[in-house]
Amino acid sequence: MYRKNAWEALAEGEKAKVAAFAEKYKAYLDAGKTERECVTESVRQAKEAGFTDLMSAIREGKTLKAGDRVYRAWMGKCIMLFVIGEKDIECGMNILGAHIDSPRIDVKQNPLYEEGGFAYLDTHYYGGIKKYQWVASPLALHGVVCKKDGSTVTISIGEDENDPVFYISDLLIHLAADQMGKTAAKVVEGEQLNIIIGSEPVKEKDKPSVKANVLQLLKDKYGIEEEDFISAEIEAVPAGKSRDVGFDRSMIAGYGHDDRVCAYPSMAAVLDYEGTPEYTLCAVLTDKEEIGSVGATGMGAMYFENTMAELVANLKGSDSSLSLRRALQNSRMLSSDVSAGFDPNFAGVFEKNNASIVGNGVTFNKFTGSRGKSGSNDCNAEFVAMVRRICDEADIAWQTAELGKVDVGGGGTIAYICAKYGMNVIDAGLPVLSMHAPWELISKVDLWQEYKCYCAFLKGAKELEY
Ligand code: MN
Ligand code: MN
Repeated sequence: MYRKNAWEALAEGEKAKVAAFAEKYKAYLDAGKTERECVTESVRQAKEAGFTDLMSAIREGKTLKAGDRVYRAWMGKCIMLFVIGEKDIECGMNILGAHIDSPRIDVKQNPLYEEGGFAYLDTHYYGGIKKYQWVASPLALHGVVCKKDGSTVTISIGEDENDPVFYISDLLIHLAADQMGKTAAKVVEGEQLNIIIGSEPVKEKDKPSVKANVLQLLKDKYGIEEEDFISAEIEAVPAGKSRDVGFDRSMIAGYGHDDRVCAYPSMAAVLDYEGTPEYTLCAVLTDKEEIGSVGATGMGAMYFENTMAELVANLKGSDSSLSLRRALQNSRMLSSDVSAGFDPNFAGVFEKNNASIVGNGVTFNKFTGSRGKSGSNDCNAEFVAMVRRICDEADIAWQTAELGKVDVGGGGTIAYICAKYGMNVIDAGLPVLSMHAPWELISKVDLWQEYKCYCAFLKGAKELEY
């Protein structure tokens, strides 16, 4: 069976690149704790790398040509980056896709209340979380408050060392006899994820009110009224920066590795591409994967196809639905999402020959899904062969895996959505431990091999004849 140790596969002097790339990734992770922040940071890096806004170019009547570098952000929550290739767009693109939303705790629309001397924000969690993991630890609040006058207040509180943080309480062990007997799904329930945001009252109508004090602080500092929560998107996430793990600093603990550990190198591979590619290159960083790729910014929406329609019409000089279909159908895509890393502490849920092993490099999943591959893309063998060849020719440590033992569980990605166009799509990513926990774990060498794989794919993937 094919498997290389990704550390041993490194060339002379390559370790320094592993460490340097990890630092760039950590900076991206710390700058982007929400999908909106990831897009803001991605736009900043794209501009720095000479990318310009696609829609501005179109509005100005410019015609794109080979070598041009453009991006399009949509609703501030997803972004696409392109490097225009030499070949006709109808020959398809080499696409890297990943998602930038991560499991978290969202603040409700009518969230603010006072109880027992505390002011709270009521929440509704986002994505699949083990709720008991999110209590009794520092949280930061990130997001936007959109006011009726059309202005938007951007919030990020709890990341700076001097910032306060926020907190969800857990029951003390001394009184937890009943709680400890519950199943993990019920130990902390959804409606108990109430965030403590204050405890010092002011006098309101001669009575002490913590809520009134919080509201006054929000008004003074941010100009926000209680009603403004109705049109806000505020996400509670683990407070603090990503950190090196281990005496050897070989790993990173971070919030949101799923799926920024694929999104960042996907973007970086396109930004770092030098010269004019043969085929048009694309990175698409999407939102809403964790709740089923729904909504206007999820992969299931039309934003990608719409953007492609704009691009194809610009390159071809006219709007042709057939050209668009050909461009999409003939594309090749690495749909990148994290794999369940083999965890020796929980070995029983894995089938080791087909598990993603930390330190064994970038991971390909021919299929995902659950209960007999249901909901999966199941990539064509011909395309798997192409990807193998590209990786081997570039000396990349790679492995194949599936998500746990048959019928133990499962999960989906964006792969099947892009495959709807008829394009070749394979799931690619890297092993993560404690997926969807507040702090997830990855290996720096896997991240490096993943980035190298994406770079090689952008250069080497070609049309398949059918
Ligand atoms: Mn994911
Ligand atoms: Mn996920």
